[in-house]
Amino acid sequence: MRNFFKISLFSIVVLSAAVTSAFVVFRISVPIVERLMETDTRKQSELWHRRVILHLQDPDRTFMDQILGEEDIKYLSLLPEASNIYRFNLYDADGRIIWSTRPEDIGAAAPAHYPAEELAKGQVSYNREQKPASDIDGLALHALRQDVSTHEVANVFEPIISNGQVIGAIEFFTDITDLRDSFLKRVRVLLSALTAIALITVGVISTILYRTNRSRYLALMQQSDTEKTLLSEQLRLARDVKLLGELNEWLQSSRSLEELFDMVGRFLTHILPKAEGSVYVYSNSRDVLDGWASWNGGTHKEHIHPDECWGLRRGRTYEYGANEINFKCGHVDPKNDNPYFCFPLLAHGETVGLLHLHSKTDCAETFFADRGLAQMCAEQISMAIANVRMRDELHDQSVRDPLTGLFNRRHMTDSLRKLINDSERSGAAFTVVAIDVDHFKKFNDTHGHDAGDMVLRAVGSTMEQDCDGDEVACRPGGEEFTVILPDCDVQNGMARAETLRRKVENIKVRYGEKTLPRITISIGVASYPANGTLPQFLLRAADEALYQAKALGRNRVVLADDVQNAHSEPQMDDIQNTQNDWALPSPSDTEPQKQTG
Ligand code: GH3
Ligand code: MG
Ligand code: MG
Repeated sequence: MRNFFKISLFSIVVLSAAVTSAFVVFRISVPIVERLMETDTRKQSELWHRRVILHLQDPDRTFMDQILGEEDIKYLSLLPEASNIYRFNLYDADGRIIWSTRPEDIGAAAPAHYPAEELAKGQVSYNREQKPASDIDGLALHALRQDVSTHEVANVFEPIISNGQVIGAIEFFTDITDLRDSFLKRVRVLLSALTAIALITVGVISTILYRTNRSRYLALMQQSDTEKTLLSEQLRLARDVKLLGELNEWLQSSRSLEELFDMVGRFLTHILPKAEGSVYVYSNSRDVLDGWASWNGGTHKEHIHPDECWGLRRGRTYEYGANEINFKCGHVDPKNDNPYFCFPLLAHGETVGLLHLHSKTDCAETFFADRGLAQMCAEQISMAIANVRMRDELHDQSVRDPLTGLFNRRHMTDSLRKLINDSERSGAAFTVVAIDVDHFKKFNDTHGHDAGDMVLRAVGSTMEQDCDGDEVACRPGGEEFTVILPDCDVQNGMARAETLRRKVENIKVRYGEKTLPRITISIGVASYPANGTLPQFLLRAADEALYQAKALGRNRVVLADDVQNAHSEPQMDDIQNTQNDWALPSPSDTEPQKQTG
């Protein structure tokens, strides 16, 4: 199609050039031929002039006195036959015809076309005119073209000068029809040839110029295309770098994995719009990965096994669809055959999770073109997960007790303060439970500190399991524990404390080959707002109740409200309650009994 247009355009150009040149040749050939004819006729007329003068016996006499000898007349009469002059006249100085090839004209006055002024100045006068064939004397002899009705005739007046004076003139008539036609033909052929050569030259030069310019133009176009591609690539890179920078900044400032993956989803939808995404993080047990988030049309499973992913199994990025033979990961939808990436998320040399990016289309080329960018995103996400984890660990370290994993004293006080604030607004009651392991010094002394630690861990674990939702189990120090129960009134608090006491009583701890003897706890229960509206008052009230429980014989629950009444001495059965199978009651334990006894 393109070639057809080219050929058509070329033909039109050639045709118009040919028509224009033909027109030009036709138009300019006529004046050129006129000019050539004039020059040629003038030369010939000079020769005829010389011949006439040479053959006249006395030219001065002929022109000045109008006398012609017989020889002269004979010669003059023969001249038309011996030349291409078909008619000529001799004039005297006044313009009167002395002699003529037409005898009837002899003696006639100067004709209307007689150029007296030019001749007076000694100038040759040339004239061209068209005459009917009937006006050509001796047509058969002088006109080669007898088939035309109108003839081109040249008429030349030659002045006759003697001693610097114009003494007469000779007028020649010659038929130039054929000469003109042949001149025209020759000139036209010549001009056509020249025009053709000129056209060919112009064509060749134009073609060369066109080719040179075209190749230069194409090179420039190609260069500008390359530059355009480079520029757009640079712009894309700059945008990616900017977005990655922003992603990094946001990810670094996220405080939890939920927040982190919310940002990841939003950014990756924007940065990699061609990919559906999902992210998995190793669970604490590290046997499975938990699905945390998905975006841009992607989905995630609740859990996946590390063996289901080729990326995790091989410990490096897996590109599905990049090779001739591909194996699909087990966590991927088997019906979706579009290319995908599985980036293991690595932080500090440890695999923390998996970033899965699945192409929305089956075009592997465009999808894998973004590999570098996706890889950078994966690296940033890895670092961010590590950061959140590290922050969580640091926070845990600052609020958790290392032995039992329960919250420490600082967190206990903070939680209480917060809960009091909330309860001031809501008016809801809550309960504080203070716990102390009974005779723990003796336990340690008997079974060793390590066994004591195991027991403390078991007590802590029982408490943690007993707590739900916002309930907080703490180990403020030593063998003392505190449980804070939000939205819990006194009755419920007492019931929960009693349940806890029983659970601890039933704990069985294996230590080496043997099972450690059971331990008991004493509990004091205080409630907000009845026993105090500040953390220290509530804790003191619970502690006082706890002391009361100790005083009453241990392994029991005492409510802060009952502390006043509880100053009464403990009963014998209370003392027996605390008589563990591993320790006899100490003298201090039995002291109140003795007093009462
Ligand atoms: P009571 O029934 O009156 O509470 O008697 P008790 O022996 O439990 O009380 P006391 O305050 O005299 O002793 C507390 C003991 O708890 C002292 C210490 O050996 C032990 N203890 C404190 N912290 C730890 C710990 O982290 N690990 C172990 N194994 N023992 C601890
Ligand atoms: Mg104690
Ligand atoms: Mg104790």
